[in-house]
Parts: sequence; structure tokens; C-alpha cells
Amino acid sequence: MAIRNIREIGDEVLTKKCKEVKEMTPRVKELIEDMLDTMYEANGVGLAASQVGILKRIVVIDVTGEDPYIMINPRIIQSDGEQTGHEGCLSVPGKTGIVTRPNYVKAVALNENMEEYEIEGTELLARAICHELEHLEGHLYVERVEGELMNVSDLEDGEEEDE
Ligand code: ZN
Repeated sequence: MAIRNIREIGDEVLTKKCKEVKEMTPRVKELIEDMLDTMYEANGVGLAASQVGILKRIVVIDVTGEDPYIMINPRIIQSDGEQTGHEGCLSVPGKTGIVTRPNYVKAVALNENMEEYEIEGTELLARAICHELEHLEGHLYVERVEGELMNVSDLEDGEEEDE
């Protein structure tokens, strides 16, 4: 188990497109374990491989703190509705902004055994899936923010989650 260094906005690696994972190897397995450790250590609800400097199409998401989704080569196959709310990112520390996302998302991905599965989510899980998959394309939520980026410390309530 190892905590990896989270890359921050301004780091070029966050603007690059990630590559498909073709097979599970000990190195990929270790990367996934480290991504989970790094996400939990940072109190995040999601993390993409590019955020730890690795350009592979892998994300981990856990909005409950109990049961992480490991998504390899994920793609969204269905989305519906709309939600507008605060979003944050472990690569943009201390900041938050308003982003509109679908309220429902269905995606397909491979798990850590390279078996395909479907994942369906609403609200925060749908938001996290959209956010993380954009990292794989080299995009950050700040490109989508409606209005100004804000400091988390300026907000009154503490319900921000970072992805
Ligand atoms: Zn993020």
C-alpha cells in the first residue's frame, strides 16, 4: 500500500488523454491499490489515474466510503436529467464551483479482473462518474464551472466532496 502524489492543476499530465488498459498486470493491480489508498487518504470520492501521473483509463470512485468501484476503460452509455451543484477536485485543492451534470448515468467498465460490468448512479455518484471520466480525456471541472471558482473555506456549509 502506498500513497501517491496527487498532481495539481497546472501539471501538464492532467491535460493528456489516457490510454486503454489492455491487460491486468501486477503493475496495474498495484496502481489500483495505490489509487484507492490515495483517494481515501485525501478524503476524496473519486480519483483518476492521470491524477497520480499515470495515463491509463482507470478511475476509482467511492461515494459511500464503504465499497469502491474500480472502473477500467469506462464509458458512459446512458444519461438522463440534470443536477446543478458544487463540485470539487483533489487536483484543484481548496476550490469549488457550480457545475451542471446529468442526474442519472449508466456506464460500462471492466473491474479489476477485467470483467465487464454496468454501473448506474444518480446524484453524487452520477456526478463523480462524469467528473472522473472527463479526467481520462484530459479535462478538469474548472472548464465547466458556472460563474466563479470559489474557496471552500468561504462556504458556510461543509458538504463539499472532492473528486
Ligand atoms: Zn477531479
